[in-house]
Amino acid sequence: MTDTRTALIIGGGIAGPVAALALRRAGIDATVYEAHAGTADGVGGALSIAPNGRNALAVVDADEAVRRIGVPMTAMVLQSGTGRHLAELGSPPDLPEMLLVWRTDLYRALYTEAVDRGIRIEHGRRLVGVTDTDTGVTAHFADGTTAEADILVGADGLRSTVRTLIDPAAPQPRHSGLISFGARLADSGLPSTGGRMFMVFGRRAFLGYQVLDDGSGGWFVNLPHREPMTAGQARQTSAVRWLEVLRETFADDDRTPALTLLRRTDPAELLVVGPMEDLPTVPTWHRGRVVLVGDAAHAPSSSSGQGASLAIESAVELARCLRDLPHREAFAGYERLRRPRVEKIVAAGARTNRNKAAGPVGRVLRDLLMPLFMRFATPERMSWQFGYRIDWEARVTTAHGLPTSEVRLT
Ligand SMILES: Cc1cc2nc3c(=O)[nH]c(=O)nc-3n(C[C@H](O)[C@H](O)[C@H](O)COP(=O)(O)OP(=O)(O)OC[C@H]3O[C@@H](n4cnc5c(N)ncnc54)[C@H](O)[C@@H]3O)c2cc1C
Repeated sequence: MTDTRTALIIGGGIAGPVAALALRRAGIDATVYEAHAGTADGVGGALSIAPNGRNALAVVDADEAVRRIGVPMTAMVLQSGTGRHLAELGSPPDLPEMLLVWRTDLYRALYTEAVDRGIRIEHGRRLVGVTDTDTGVTAHFADGTTAEADILVGADGLRSTVRTLIDPAAPQPRHSGLISFGARLADSGLPSTGGRMFMVFGRRAFLGYQVLDDGSGGWFVNLPHREPMTAGQARQTSAVRWLEVLRETFADDDRTPALTLLRRTDPAELLVVGPMEDLPTVPTWHRGRVVLVGDAAHAPSSSSGQGASLAIESAVELARCLRDLPHREAFAGYERLRRPRVEKIVAAGARTNRNKAAGPVGRVLRDLLMPLFMRFATPERMSWQFGYRIDWEARVTTAHGLPTSEVRLT
């Protein structure tokens, strides 16, 4: 039975508001504390919400809000830089469609959903310390204020402070060797892609793009860059210069629309998203009354297409565990239910990154083998990833001292 009535959630990004909504559904009152003084409108590039992410959003009645701001992706078409068709991966049947969303719109949709339902989100509250006792947990903020509750949830992203507070030896994010760019275009100059996202493994960089029926659209590029570089360092180079670099990079991929998209991009619209990073494994997910969720616990690279979806799933699963078990058992049960799945997806994202940054020999092998490999990526084989569904009604129980659950995995 639960012993949790109140929670402090650190981080008001994607996982934070969803965790607050899910905890509310579990009967636990949560307040979100966000470091930034303002909201994160206008920041970030494109990302996908996979069918499994939408299933988890439905548990907290937030799927409709996200569907409204998303563009359906009915299939992913993989091409080489020579324009050769490598494979097409259709949306799994009987599942919600995959959505292409801009991080700023996703953030705003979840933020509004939470605030409209009475969740408190306090800005300018940067967590710097935690005091954990037998009876509760106290968060210490940079402005000298504190807050208390039964538990603290670290939803503070890839560079989580909570993660290092519960384990000073926690790993740091790993550079994938790629940096990411993107832009939205009011007029792409290209015909509609018919709901399909095209993924081009160019000779020297990777391009994804989708064009809507009205000719508007968006693109993202993953550019190999061996040296680690922070987003701040990447943004010191002007957008004009980056666009020149990207055009030079795709100069030989003239059988793809890369150059059209780049030429149509106004430098003011270029999003320098920054380095693509991941966290292969985070050894400690919880300590005492403190637990991690989202990128703080498991950060796949954006190549997985699952970062936000996994963060949403974990937020819902954590709340379900806390609904049914005292916090210690709940945290252990949550980790047991989540860790194998998220680490498998993190590893898959890292493999995709290696394909995107392939050298000349790797590129030839990739283009030869990918069509064969993709034949096995049938909807049935992908159902472990996309068909995942958290059964909110199922009780999480402990048997033989280990948390168990009636959760359905497909
Ligand atoms: C501004 C921004 C832009 C992004 N753009 C993209 C993108 O273009 N493409 C992509 O794939 N992913 C992007 N991401 C990452 C993406 O949102 C996450 O990978 C994923 O959705 C998981 O979300 P999360 O809530 O775990 O982490 P995040 O979305 O990173 O949210 C973490 C939140 O915690 C806050 N925070 C951090 N430290 C503290 C602290 N000490 N105290 C209080 N609050 C703290 C942060 O300000 C942030 O709001 C972006 C993240 C951010 C913050």
